[in-house]
Parts: sequence; structure tokens; C-alpha cells
Amino acid sequence: MSTEKVKCLIIGSGPAGYAAAIYTGRANIAPVLYEGIQPGGQLTITTDVENFPGYPEGVSGTQLMEDLRKQAERFGADIRSGIATSADLSKRPYRITIDDEKVIETETVIISTGATAKYLGLEDEQKYAGMGVSACATCDGFFYRKKTVAVVGGGDTACEEAIYLAGLAKQVYLIVRKPFLRASKIMQARVMNHPNIKVLFEHNAVGLYGENGVEGVHLVKRQGECNEERYDLAIDGFFLAIGHKPNSDIFKAYIDTDEVGYIITEAGTPRTKVPGVFAAGDVADPHYRQAITAAGSGCKAAIEVERYLSANDLL
Ligand code: NDP
Repeated sequence: MSTEKVKCLIIGSGPAGYAAAIYTGRANIAPVLYEGIQPGGQLTITTDVENFPGYPEGVSGTQLMEDLRKQAERFGADIRSGIATSADLSKRPYRITIDDEKVIETETVIISTGATAKYLGLEDEQKYAGMGVSACATCDGFFYRKKTVAVVGGGDTACEEAIYLAGLAKQVYLIVRKPFLRASKIMQARVMNHPNIKVLFEHNAVGLYGENGVEGVHLVKRQGECNEERYDLAIDGFFLAIGHKPNSDIFKAYIDTDEVGYIITEAGTPRTKVPGVFAAGDVADPHYRQAITAAGSGCKAAIEVERYLSANDLL
């Protein structure tokens, strides 16, 4: 297996990774960044980003990530495609294996691997993968023009996906397990007032059916404490928007994570318990999970890297 030595390895290409690359690049650290499974991160599968400061008219997620990438490249960041498949953080230099075929030996690591969409865990989700089941409305919504779809979830993502789909499909059902939405008030209002969206509170999807693709969903509606009603609803597409799992598995033997898998850092900093290893963005943020907070934490991680290298005479 080939080995390459670097001073700073950034894993992941969302706002946290690119912000870290911009800052470490400008500090002449020559960072190497591996893009990971989803180059550009979660924002590349969203629609418009309206709350990233500096864009009064909003910006598409793809455009924002392209701009961040170009900005990082301008300062010398070496951006590569590849996935970190294992990690040895037991001693410095830390060893990160890429695509099971190459080892990067690095003095510092910024883990900005983000989080991945969760599924309900129904067998039918796999059975109908690519045949009506999706975790990304902006990727797959186009296929459901003038059709009927369901979105599962009650958070901001679910509302955003439902609204996006309502612009394409003729009818959108939002399947919510609780009697209320968890989303922000503004998103709740948009969903509740949309003529093409019907919210099904206290409903759970328990299966899907269809001959050559999804034709419907088996639903259970809770009624009071002990009663439930089971019925089928005809749909053409089934979209999951029930949250994400942080991509921290390969680091868990060395650093602390919470019960969900979010990396635990020293309060208010991106420092993990391994010196020189920092975590930034959604992989370490169960609370805010915004592009701007991710970018901010990437900046903090980069400053920490610079200070660490300097303190250890590694610059
Ligand atoms: P959330 O964790 O906020 O919401 C997940 C939703 O899925 C909840 O309604 C939850 O239900 C439901 N859910 C979870 N598991 C299941 C299950 N097994 N069966 C049925 N329903 C389930 O995740 P989001 O992805 O929506 O949002 C993540 C973060 O990103 C939030 O902080 C959000 O505010 C932010 N965000 C902000 C946006 C913006 O500002 N433009 C856009 C999108 C996200 P329950 O409530 O019952 O737990």
C-alpha cells in the first residue's frame, strides 16, 4: 500500500471541510482534502440556501459548494476524490487509509465527514430502492411530476422536501409520527398552508407495496392511547426525511462519540481527545447542523491545526 506524508488531512467536502481548507491553505499548511462519499456534502442535494450570510437572494446548494471549493483551491488546497476507509489515531503521525488502497500519514486531521440520511429500517425500503424510495427530493423529485408522493418526517428537512415536491407533484402527503411538527414555525406555516400538501399526523409507515415500483404505502394511524387504524394510501414515490447519522464510525475506537455517533469535542472547540485531531461540522454537531455553523467550526479547526503544528515545531 502506498504511503504519503502530509501536515494536515481534511476528510469531507461540506462547508466545514472547505472552510478548513480555505483557512489552512491561506496559512501555507498545504492541506490535502478528500471529498468523501458525497462531494460537496449535503448541500449539493438541497435546493436554494436562503440563510447562508452574504447571499441576499439565496444561492443554490451546488453553486455555494462550487464557490467554496474554488476558494479553497485558490489558496493551494489539494482536493481529491476518495473515501477514508479506516483510521489509526493511536500515535502521530496518524494513519488514514483512503479507498482501502493508500495510506496518508498526517500530523493533524480535521474530521468533517458530515452525516448521512437515515431510513426507517423497513425491508421494503431496500426492495424499492431506486424504484420509488428516495432520501433526496431534489435529486429524485423530477421523476414525480404530476404524481402523488409521501414524505416521512416532521422536521425542517421533511417540510423543505414536502414544499419542493409540492411544486412538482400533484399531491404530497407528509407522514408525521407525532401530533405536531418539529420544524421551525415558518416552515410549519408554509406546509400547513400549502394547497398540495396534506399532513398526516400520528401516522407511521409500516410497509410499501407495488408490482414494479412503489404503488402505495401501508399506514398505521394512532387513535387515542390504545387504538389504531390500518389503511393503504396510493402513492408513486416515498421520500425519507427523518434525520441523519453522523459519519464517525472509523474514528470511534480513538475518540468519544455520543449514543447517536456525534463526535464529542471539548466544549466550544473542535478538539477531540486525541491531540491534533479535530472534528468540525455536522459530524460533531447534534444541535445546530447548519451550513454556516459547519463553516464556522471548520474555521476553528483550521486555526487549531495551525496552532498545534506551530506549538510542536511542525510548520
Ligand atoms: P430532525 O431531527 O430535526 O427531524 C427529524 C424528523 O423525523 C422528526 O420529525 C422526527 O420525529 C422524525 N423521525 C425520526 N425518526 C423517525 C422514524 N423512525 N419514524 C418516523 N419519523 C421519524 O431532522 P431534520 O433533518 O429535519 O433537521 C436536522 C437539523 O437541520 C435541524 O436542526 C433543522 O432545523 C436543520 N435544518 C434547517 C434547515 C433550514 O434552516 N433551512 C433545513 C433543513 C434542516 P419526532 O419529532 O417524533 O422525533
